Amino acid sequence: MEIVTEGHAKIRVQKPGKISKEMPVFYNPVMSLNRDISILLLNSINKNSMQIADPLAATGIRSIRFLKELNKNKIKIICINDNGKKAVNSIKHNLKLNKIPINKKIIVSNEDANLFLLKSSGFDYIDIDPFGTPNPFLDAACKRLARDGIIAVTATDTSALCGTFPRACLRKYWAMPKKGAVMHETGLRILVRKIQLIGAQYDKALVPIFSYSKEHYMRVFLRNWKGKNRVDEILRQHGVFNDAGPMWLGRLWDGHLAGIMYKKSLKESYNKELLKFLKLIKDESKINAIGFYDLNGICEKNNIKDLQKKAAIIGKIRKSGYKASETHFKGEGIRSDMPMAKLVKLLKNK
Ligand code: SAH
Repeated sequence: MEIVTEGHAKIRVQKPGKISKEMPVFYNPVMSLNRDISILLLNSINKNSMQIADPLAATGIRSIRFLKELNKNKIKIICINDNGKKAVNSIKHNLKLNKIPINKKIIVSNEDANLFLLKSSGFDYIDIDPFGTPNPFLDAACKRLARDGIIAVTATDTSALCGTFPRACLRKYWAMPKKGAVMHETGLRILVRKIQLIGAQYDKALVPIFSYSKEHYMRVFLRNWKGKNRVDEILRQHGVFNDAGPMWLGRLWDGHLAGIMYKKSLKESYNKELLKFLKLIKDESKINAIGFYDLNGICEKNNIKDLQKKAAIIGKIRKSGYKASETHFKGEGIRSDMPMAKLVKLLKNK
């Protein structure tokens, strides 16, 4: 056993060997960025006194960081749950290690996540952060999501969502994925639609406010707007893109929120990787375009020999009156509302 520091929290974890499901209590340091972003998002929205659920808590690191790093007044109640006995012992141990007394505000339980959710009276923030697919937990989470609440979902089964296993994607996400340059964005949009369909059953319109794909996982935050008409509006924005789908064709971010999160991350001196990542997302969130241009692919297809520098291309697109930015999905990608034919012309004329 060893003590690890992440953010303002300390936790006891098994000596890092191989990070896998077989760990007695799961902890993945790579996911600290996932937790950083959750904290930044909750500190950036206009919402206080929240009832928070962490149904798949493992070591409790996420909730402990919420308790230490969320602004005062953010948390009314936080419920930390895991169905593993060892996990619950570790949550209790780690709360103590961080000098957080278990009181009426902090509830630890050892239940199946769905039972835990269904027995509750509802939450303003539910964080579904499992191994693999979030599917088994979406129904109960959507049912117990309060009006104006936020559901956060992690999916690590990206090989299904991005098209390595199309039949698995059809079964699990009710959509056809497609491998290729934009597969991470289309996979993310397929995941968003799946969550929205579950919400729609309960007249909950789930609108993405922040989403991203990184390394081995995808992550989305959706805000619950109640109302049948709003649900209909959501469903109208499901469709096919790049021969894949159906998927969510609306916006993946609330641009204003992405801006606040980036500013906050600068002020609070988070690590460079996170700052760079949030800047990319802040910039691309301003552009209303589905998918992005894969520069290498376009050059190959159009027999363009020497590719100009990305920054120069973005500059030229902007000069001609369109929007353009890099994208967090792919290094060689550009998000822009400029039509393809115009972009090809621009790439050919140096
Ligand atoms: N959210 C954690 C990581 C969770 S790993 C973090 O941020 O670090 C997934 C956890 O879900 C494991 O601890 C596992 O014991 C728990 N789990 C898996 N299936 C469950 C179920 N049906 N109900 C409750 N917990 C479950």
